[in-house]
Amino acid sequence: MRLLRSTDLALRVLMRLAVAEDAATPTTRDVAAAMEVPYTHAAKVVAELQHLGLLSARRGRGGGLALTEAGRGASVGAVVRAFEGEGDVVDCEGASPCPLHTGCRLRVALRRAQEAFYASLDPLTIRDMVAAPTGPLLLDITMR
Ligand code: SF4
Repeated sequence: MRLLRSTDLALRVLMRLAVAEDAATPTTRDVAAAMEVPYTHAAKVVAELQHLGLLSARRGRGGGLALTEAGRGASVGAVVRAFEGEGDVVDCEGASPCPLHTGCRLRVALRRAQEAFYASLDPLTIRDMVAAPTGPLLLDITMR
């Protein structure tokens, strides 16, 4: 199962904010530069994270991005679900629907596997993801 680039970026943004809450708050432009992604891509992800209530963005001098209380305790599984959506891993009913789509055991098995994947990420928080060695490494990379 391959995650969307926006899902991975959303997790990295949250991790970056979680690892340095006391440091100067980065802007979306800082995050885009540090993650080496186009500004528009980062801005879209930041807007979605704001919409989900996981981060706040303050404009102007001294402004920047910060985790909300919900963002601090966010589960990795919840973030992945929110960005990936509830769709099946295989597009069974797309433009030319699969003839088996109304009674396919494989489809059921894949849906169960997808749910197990998300469920394994549910107990993990963004904070868990920035314990050493990841947090210090992330900080070193993004504060250069
Ligand atoms: S075989 Fe089953 S899982 Fe594969 S596309 Fe068809 S309905 Fe979906």
